[in-house]
Amino acid sequence: MADVNSKYKDMENIKSLNFDAVIVGGGGSGMRCSLQLAEGGMKVAVITKVFPTRSHTVAAQGGIGASLGNMAHDNWHFHFYDTVKGSDWLGDQDAIEYMCREAPKVVYELEHYGMPFDRNEDGTIYQRPFGGHTSNYGEKAVQRACAAADRTGHALLHTLYQKNLECGTQFFVEWIALDLITDADGNINGVIAIDQETGEIGVFQAPVTVLATGGAGRIFKASTNAYINTGDGLGMAVRAGIPLQDMEFWQFHPTGVAGAGVLLTEGCRGEGAILRNKDGEAFMERYAPTVKDLAPRDLVSRSMDQEIKEGRGCGPNADYIEMDMTHLGTETIMKRLPSVFEIGKNFANVDITKEKIPVIPTIHYQMGGIPTNIHGQVTVPDFEKGQDEEGNFAHGRVINGLYAIGECACVSVHGANRLGTNSLLDLVVFGRAAGKHIVDEFRNTDHTYKPIAIDAVDFTMDRLNKLQNSTEGYYAQDVADEIRETMQYHAGVFRTQKLMDEGVEKILALEEKVNNIHLEDKSQVFNTARIEALEVANLYEVAKATMISASKRHECRGAHTVLDYERPLDDDYAPNGRNDHEWMKHTLWYADGNTIIYKPVRKVPLTTDYCKPKPRVY
Ligand SMILES: Cc1cc2nc3c(=O)[nH]c(=O)nc-3n(C[C@H](O)[C@H](O)[C@H](O)COP(=O)(O)OP(=O)(O)OC[C@H]3O[C@@H](n4cnc5c(N)ncnc54)[C@H](O)[C@@H]3O)c2cc1C
Repeated sequence: MADVNSKYKDMENIKSLNFDAVIVGGGGSGMRCSLQLAEGGMKVAVITKVFPTRSHTVAAQGGIGASLGNMAHDNWHFHFYDTVKGSDWLGDQDAIEYMCREAPKVVYELEHYGMPFDRNEDGTIYQRPFGGHTSNYGEKAVQRACAAADRTGHALLHTLYQKNLECGTQFFVEWIALDLITDADGNINGVIAIDQETGEIGVFQAPVTVLATGGAGRIFKASTNAYINTGDGLGMAVRAGIPLQDMEFWQFHPTGVAGAGVLLTEGCRGEGAILRNKDGEAFMERYAPTVKDLAPRDLVSRSMDQEIKEGRGCGPNADYIEMDMTHLGTETIMKRLPSVFEIGKNFANVDITKEKIPVIPTIHYQMGGIPTNIHGQVTVPDFEKGQDEEGNFAHGRVINGLYAIGECACVSVHGANRLGTNSLLDLVVFGRAAGKHIVDEFRNTDHTYKPIAIDAVDFTMDRLNKLQNSTEGYYAQDVADEIRETMQYHAGVFRTQKLMDEGVEKILALEEKVNNIHLEDKSQVFNTARIEALEVANLYEVAKATMISASKRHECRGAHTVLDYERPLDDDYAPNGRNDHEWMKHTLWYADGNTIIYKPVRKVPLTTDYCKPKPRVY
């Protein structure tokens, strides 16, 4: 560190810290990983924008998926099949098998850590049904979501935080990571971060860096995501030259409170809630005759949109759908869905025990992210090994020293559409897997700290100084709003090629504004305006990746529905518009020249048989 400090010796507020591993993000994935490392004897730093238990995982309501079979016949093969089908055959089957097989283990581990799951009479963990989860390969809905009332994420975070304290993980709270530290060979040696409280800069040097920064749902205007979900980890990866995978796939959750966007968990429908149109009809019976309201989210969202488009929406403007929970009874609602009751009262002025609540599909989850293998190692195409006969880049290489887990990563288990409860599962399965891999590697390799190059922090300091010295330019929140409005309009539930192409032009035209933000308040202490200005750069990279990747995918798959490419279900070539001949492949977007390349879907599971594609009906 001597080099960096000598260059910036006049800047007393640069601090250098050395760790065995630095994790950016104190949500479910970050803390599951840090726990594994701290238990493995490593010196671990967790850098987090907000207090760990306020990370967005806290908002997760419905449950964590695992085929425990406590309340119905179930096994990991059914879970594997549902997840592959839910992903519309874009998920990598090796990763999906790994996740579904590990699921019961990680849930029992959480139980033993003290996570307060709801219980059945016999003392086993309570499980509720969830969209797209079935038994016997699609026969009927199954209870697979392990729940702590409708506060599962809250219970998870508190459990993991307490275990981390016990094991000595060091938390850097309200520190914002800005950029990765990259050496001349492209290896990652840590991160540069800023302390919100003081404006102090920290150079966190470590042989292992883990990105666990969560989702970027704030690139859209109507979102269930917290304001902190600005895609910082994705922005950091992009600035280090790493591509983003499958960013065209964004999940709309069917039941955001109309007008407010706040989520009402799918657990409501798991407990028996029914979606109704203006005529009171339970319309999902027409779209998904077998599982009805428990169809996966992409299908339910599209069906709701269709009802509204065809004039069967509710309310004076016929622009929302109603969710009916009045038949569940006050006792069930208060026991299983107490937060939903509160949300109904506070955000819709509705007593859900007596009245139906207005809902609309709202952006919720990013299926894409930073590409990784099943150990969480960030993996990029190996261009030296060339393309396969279909022009895809099948060979990958890992970026030394860099891992990504949780919603910011794309491993890819969710493919084109995530099933509810599979995200909390993804966090703990792959947080733990990455942790195990890191501990093994750490034991077996020499990891003396290499001196960081003299210019390692120049790029970040230049970004900060540009903002600090700005005398004119655009207001960060105005630019962020323009990004959000563009994304909402041009990359919604139903897309058209024309809308997406126009969206690309509009997004690219915003670059000049993003590069010329004016920071009026130059103070150091808790300057949230500076943080917001820095976040816009991350939002922008994610928005560009999304818009451009979407405009290039000429088919309908999972959450990416393009009216121009819709086909009937019995179409021989592309049933339902899904074109496996040309498009069963992952998109990779590089910021450099906004280049798009593709890599194949990993079709071979670890031990079980390949789950062959078929039309997706429920
Ligand atoms: C309302 C809601 C309900 C949901 N319900 C469920 C459910 O029931 N079941 C399910 O499986 N999934 C659910 N999901 C999805 C799931 O909750 C998320 O995908 C998951 O919690 C994300 O976890 P994470 O660890 O990746 O990130 P997060 O929990 O979002 O944590 C991100 C962390 O990164 C930190 N961070 C971000 N940027 C920086 C930076 N620049 N510097 C430092 N720190 C940074 C933050 O402080 C935070 O600690 C729900 C999502 C929402 C929005």
